[in-house]
Amino acid sequence: MAYITLSRSNFYHNLSQIALKTGSLDKIAIVLKDNAYGHGAIPMAQMASEFGIRKAVVRNYKEAIEIEQYFDDIIILGGEIDPKPNFSFTINSLEALKAVPFDIRIELKVDTGMHRNGIMLDELDAAIDIIKKRELKLTGVMSHFASADELGSEYFYQYQNFKYAKNKILSQGFEGVRFHIHNSGGILRCGEFEEDLVRLGIGAYGYSHMPQSFGDMNLKPVMSLYAKRVSTRILRKGDRVGYGGEYIAPREMTVSTYDIGYGDGWRRGSAFDPYITHDSGPILGKVSMDLVSLEGDKDEVCIMSDALKASKHYHTISYEITCALHPGIERIVVDS
Ligand SMILES: *Cc1c(COP(=O)(O)O)cnc(C)c1O
Repeated sequence: MAYITLSRSNFYHNLSQIALKTGSLDKIAIVLKDNAYGHGAIPMAQMASEFGIRKAVVRNYKEAIEIEQYFDDIIILGGEIDPKPNFSFTINSLEALKAVPFDIRIELKVDTGMHRNGIMLDELDAAIDIIKKRELKLTGVMSHFASADELGSEYFYQYQNFKYAKNKILSQGFEGVRFHIHNSGGILRCGEFEEDLVRLGIGAYGYSHMPQSFGDMNLKPVMSLYAKRVSTRILRKGDRVGYGGEYIAPREMTVSTYDIGYGDGWRRGSAFDPYITHDSGPILGKVSMDLVSLEGDKDEVCIMSDALKASKHYHTISYEITCALHPGIERIVVDS
């Protein structure tokens, strides 16, 4: 069966690189949403915790419960709310703030310019009012960069807005509140890191989408994808391969099928612009639901060792390549 390896040493290397910027592991909250970007929530949580990371970010309550045992502190971005002392819940609107149970820990999301989620800056006073009147537990104030990984002024503009929100909260006498806006792009590009936390996602998994001008971040991909041989045949010149026969053998050649396909979340792409596997050349013809064809007869092939490279081929981002990989594919932690 196809399988995914997770490189412990590459993961730890990436975490160390980021820790150099934050100054401490305590300031890293590892983002494990959506099955740890497709890497596997449990093995990634386990490794992060063994490395000394104590905080995590997940999409919803269900994901939080799955990894609860590995962390002291989990930020939940959305969905169902159910009080737990080690969970904090992202609150995105005044209506939600009015309705939440009074005993949850609140991570108040402020819209600093992305316009996706969070209260607007001019709603801050009203939010503070509700929090005080209802005696809610404000644990953190957060925001999210729309384009930390792109050249442009948006990053600075949003950061200014965040500082405005921060000062306002602090001037209202709230104590012990943590402030965080940085994602991977934010932490990679910032000079001095001055906030309490980075919510570290893609960088931990080994990818940077920053333009070259920001310099080489020296991150290493954690995930590699392997597939196993199902069968082999020898084709004559002119024989066709797969649905629609879109690959035509240019000469006599040995072709094998391997057990990965779009049913596993690998992209179907186009047979006329084939993806080049890590060690066995281009995919031949159309990708089937559970199979691909490659030249040769190796028992096992490495399909992908760098999702950023693969994402460029498929005109998408590394996030989408790794997230799509089916949770049913076995994940194996390797120490190298
Ligand atoms: C996914 C997510 C992150 C992590 O972003 P990366 O670019 O993967 O580092 C941080 N904060 C929020 C709110 C997110 O949804």
